[in-house]
Amino acid sequence: MFKPDLCDLCGDCLVECQWMDVDTHQAIDWIKAMINGEKTPALEKCITCYACNEICHNDANPFDLMAGLQEKYRTFISKEDAETTEARYTFTGELKPSPRANRVMTTCVFEKTDPHLIQGDIYDLPRIGGKPYFCWLLFSHNGATSIQEKHARDLVDRLSLANAKEIVCFHDDCYAMLAKIAPGYGIDVPFRPIHLAEYLVEFLKTNKDRIKPLNIKIAYQRPCASRHTPEKEHFVDELFELAGVKRIERTYDRKKALCCASIKLMLGNDDPRLDQEKNIRDAKDNGAQALVCLCPMCIQSLSGVAGEHGLPLIFFSDIARMALGELKR
Ligand code: SF4
Ligand code: SF4
Repeated sequence: MFKPDLCDLCGDCLVECQWMDVDTHQAIDWIKAMINGEKTPALEKCITCYACNEICHNDANPFDLMAGLQEKYRTFISKEDAETTEARYTFTGELKPSPRANRVMTTCVFEKTDPHLIQGDIYDLPRIGGKPYFCWLLFSHNGATSIQEKHARDLVDRLSLANAKEIVCFHDDCYAMLAKIAPGYGIDVPFRPIHLAEYLVEFLKTNKDRIKPLNIKIAYQRPCASRHTPEKEHFVDELFELAGVKRIERTYDRKKALCCASIKLMLGNDDPRLDQEKNIRDAKDNGAQALVCLCPMCIQSLSGVAGEHGLPLIFFSDIARMALGELKR
């Protein structure tokens, strides 16, 4: 939710955006206009990477302002196409009984699309997933953000049926929804969402005697949704430290992380190749031996260009599995 009372019209959100080139004067003009509900060129230039919500020093959530206007002005998707896409993701069948446990994991839709990423001891806990547990963040990416809000309560209600005290989120987007976005809509989340990084840190600490440090240098690819919950980022560093992995310093990391740009393809507004090239080159030039991705979509999006540059991609939890000796290094 955009919080106009917190916005001091500094313009930083747009000036620091890596997907548009505006000076402070222009940025302030556009922010003022958008607060008044007006259309500005920023709406089209934005690739919906959520970074400005983290950039804003006042937590005013400028992306949410833009997302509302992108829907109002149908910047990316028509109402009809948004409804067709919504229907494709809406679960209409009979819900299977949830496993009952103090702690369960939600795998969103990835159990079906990327089962190879959900393997080994780490994932040996009761799991729920599939269409009923889709987290709907896709719709703030494609300019139909009200659809994200419309389905948030159903998601929380369905997850609550497990009666779990804690729900581990396989996907960063699900964590963002449960830890930040749903509460922002005024929805009570009656369990503690746990980020995959926090869960893996706990798992490695419990299995410390099995760890063999990997001794590799990696670059980290921050997912878009991580911008919603920067407070949990320290778990990412803790995991790398436990696994004996050095996260290299580079231009496109931490607050300056570059979105994998798959959204550009989805929105059909530009070719992401040049952005992906500069991201991968930055990793290679700074000595990375691999690029670690937390989001399966980043892996899909970056695998082509990374492969051409000879940079292997590693899924986040596979770092833990490698350190535990479950996977080949
Ligand atoms: S939303 Fe935040 S960063 Fe953007 S102009 Fe307002 S205070 Fe500044
Ligand atoms: S969401 Fe990303 S692309 Fe859009 S304005 Fe914010 S920082 Fe820029």
